[in-house]
Amino acid sequence: MIKFLDIQKITDKNATEIKEAINRVVDSGWYLLGSEVASFEENFSKFCGVSSTVGVANGLDALRLILRAYIEMGVMQEGDEVIVPANTYIASLLAISDNKLTPVLVEPDINTCNINVTKIEGAISPRTKAIMIVHLYGQCAYNSELKRICDKYDLKLIEDNAQAQGAKYKGVVTGALGDAAGTSFYPGKNLGAFGDAGAVTTNDPKLAAAVRTLANYGSRTKYVNETMGLNSRLDEIQAAVLNVKLKYLMEDTARRREIAYKYLSGITNPKVILPQVEDKNGHVWHLFVVRTGNRESFQQYLHENGIQTLIHYPIPPHKQNAYKELNSLSFPITEKIHREVVSLPISPVMTDLEADKVIEVINRW
Ligand SMILES: *Cc1c(COP(=O)(O)O)cnc(C)c1O
Repeated sequence: MIKFLDIQKITDKNATEIKEAINRVVDSGWYLLGSEVASFEENFSKFCGVSSTVGVANGLDALRLILRAYIEMGVMQEGDEVIVPANTYIASLLAISDNKLTPVLVEPDINTCNINVTKIEGAISPRTKAIMIVHLYGQCAYNSELKRICDKYDLKLIEDNAQAQGAKYKGVVTGALGDAAGTSFYPGKNLGAFGDAGAVTTNDPKLAAAVRTLANYGSRTKYVNETMGLNSRLDEIQAAVLNVKLKYLMEDTARRREIAYKYLSGITNPKVILPQVEDKNGHVWHLFVVRTGNRESFQQYLHENGIQTLIHYPIPPHKQNAYKELNSLSFPITEKIHREVVSLPISPVMTDLEADKVIEVINRW
């Protein structure tokens, strides 16, 4: 069976070094807000090209803390609107709703599956305060038109960078493109921890300080609480793992690219629509997502031929019970994407032989 993502095999690549790092934390007797988190924050800031990284508990918290910090700072308030792509993972919306802000959905581009920037201005109202872009599947969603819109309407640009660590727009790394970004180190992400973990990146020192305070009980000095914060901190053990894995992220990404290019040039079955790549050097291939009109039989066929696939995602947020108030809205492109997408196996540990088999099996379909 060619696994969709073999996390065990990814860990095995650097297992000795990771175990040493974990043991260092075990032996230190210091498990929260220590030197591992401090050095990871510095390393990840360098990697993204930002002045500040704040480690937090997970990707959803990273996004909701950014918005909560903006509310604390008086930049936005309850009932304000945040524009977000309709086909994102539900976490992007939950971060908005959790702060009693309103998600305003905008259709993606059918070819890239990233937000269709030409449709954003039509969704802006006097209550719009931010645009949350999502670098979906590892492809950068930023462009200069987006920047023009944010400047024109005085909107904050927030990146959901959960799927795209290391992706680039004209040499600038995701996480450094907007006013603030939230990222996730969920084990299956390109930079995966051994449990939940996440981070906020920004070039705004005030925002970084506000997020850091909010994430630690609204406190900068122990037992002195300035705001009603929450507990969302990055563990020392997770930071130790991430410090090791970050060193290999671009090497891992290069391997993902090799697999992706093999697929792009090798898959020639006209029934399978390949993803459109805007900038070959900018995409980090968290997922390789194709579309087909006959998804169920395609997936079944691949399964019978020993190839595991997944769907990202089967139900769009506006059709979920969690968002009943949005159920009657219609987003035809989003709905088409959710009906047709299939994610093929891709990872830094996939072999050429495996990739060739996937291509051969698909072309026979
Ligand atoms: C994974 C993911 C998140 C949430 O990250 P968690 O660490 O699981 O909370 C948010 N947005 C997108 C697009 C994601 O893929």
